[in-house]
Amino acid sequence: MAIRDNLKQVNERIIAAASRAGREPSEITLVAISKTKPAELIRDAASAGATVFGENRVQEADKKIPELSDLTAEWHLVGHLQTNKAKKAVQLFDMIHSVDSPRLVEALDKEAGKQQKHVPILLQVNIAEEEQKYGTSREEFDRLLESAAAASFLRVRGLMVMPPFSDNPEDSRPYFRALRRMSEEYIENLSGEGDRVELSMGMTADFEVAIEEGATLVRVGTAIFGAR
Ligand SMILES: *Cc1c(COP(=O)(O)O)cnc(C)c1O
Repeated sequence: MAIRDNLKQVNERIIAAASRAGREPSEITLVAISKTKPAELIRDAASAGATVFGENRVQEADKKIPELSDLTAEWHLVGHLQTNKAKKAVQLFDMIHSVDSPRLVEALDKEAGKQQKHVPILLQVNIAEEEQKYGTSREEFDRLLESAAAASFLRVRGLMVMPPFSDNPEDSRPYFRALRRMSEEYIENLSGEGDRVELSMGMTADFEVAIEEGATLVRVGTAIFGAR
């Protein structure tokens, strides 16, 4: 079964990267990015040991997650979220990686309050200040953090970044490093006792570099499920 082999290889690469960085592999959680992939393949990945899945669109997740409600899986939203989908997002997901504006914080907090659900969130930072990318600019980060930290039903658990696309994983390293510094400066003193501070960084092309730079959540799709 291809997915089982892929998953095994990805896990071995995670262990090797952790060991190079002097980290425990248990500090790193693999988020299997299942966007565009059908429920049967997600089921295969779950039976091969995947426990955390990531989707990037609320509408797609709203179809798939209920079909897979018998799995003991965690679901993370990793793609851009519009405020008008906040309600569904709060219903469906265990963590939201892509919070990038005070307006979205407000919408999510309101829905989480209605549903009486505490929602772990990550703040997505557009560190490279790319024009077409989602994520808060460095300049607006303070305001975003302030609003998120003040929200009653949201828990800021860490940061997320998507560096500019490149064929060379080393090109991502400075962005991963910068995210880690921001986390040390702004997030570590804010998180609850015993909560791990999360750094969501690294995809198929660069997850090993991300682990060397401190990633705790790696978002890997293609290397597990094949090309989309
Ligand atoms: C699709 C996606 C990934 C996974 O990308 P791969 O290159 O297939 O590993 C990770 N993060 C986000 C936000 C994505 O949209």
